[in-house]
This record gives sequence, structure tokens and C-alpha cells, in this order.
Amino acid sequence: MRRREVVVNRSVIRSILDYAKACHPKEGILLLKGSLSKNRITVNEVEIPPLAVHGFGFSNFPLHMLPLDFSVVGTAHSHPSGVLRPSITDLNKFYGRIMIIAAYPYRSEENVAVFDREGRLIEYEVVSDV
Ligand SMILES: [Zn+2]
Repeated sequence: MRRREVVVNRSVIRSILDYAKACHPKEGILLLKGSLSKNRITVNEVEIPPLAVHGFGFSNFPLHMLPLDFSVVGTAHSHPSGVLRPSITDLNKFYGRIMIIAAYPYRSEENVAVFDREGRLIEYEVVSDV
């Protein structure tokens, strides 16, 4: 995949961190909604996936049950272990274009990282709410 620019709304980062905290010590998973253009992915909001049980782990989340929704640009989930990189299972279950991981202690943007399908770190820009 060609390197794309990823732009994330500040409220999205906040929501991911808050949700991760609420689910801890279990994993939380969210859908990332936004838009795609040729070389830019914009994430505007998060959504709790349908069928999500509070604290349902990403590794056993039934991705095939998700509705076909083209505004979903990827997923976010938390790593209560504090490891800020995707596991092999994460990459096997990759959904959409990007994967955001929030690692314990979910304090700030420093605990949040964006990855591509190959598990490579993608730099992202945080923009203020529009
Ligand atoms: Zn994971």
C-alpha cells in the first residue's frame, strides 16, 4: 500500500482513550468512521460496533457480522497489556484501511498509534474538531 496521509479528529482520539479506559482490563473495540480520498484518510468519529459486548476483545470479534458500510475506514481497539503494536491476530483480522491501537495507560496521544495492513506504523495528524 502506498503511504497515505491519515488525519484524525481530536475527539476521536479522546473517545478511543475514554472507551479503552472504560473497558479496561478487557479490550474494547470501536469502528472508525470517516472518509477516504486518493491519498488521505480522515477519521471523524467512532462507533461502537453492532453486537459488541462491552469489553469484547478484538481477537475474537466477529468482523464478518459487520454491516457493509463504506464510511468505516478501519477499527480501533485497546491493548490492556500496554503493547503499542498489532499482534499477528490483529493483522489477520484487519478490517478497513487503518488500525488504531490504544495501549494502557490510555493517557494521551502517545498511547495511540495507527497501523496499516502490514502492521507498519503510519504517522497521523490530529486536527481540532470541526
Ligand atoms: Zn490487538
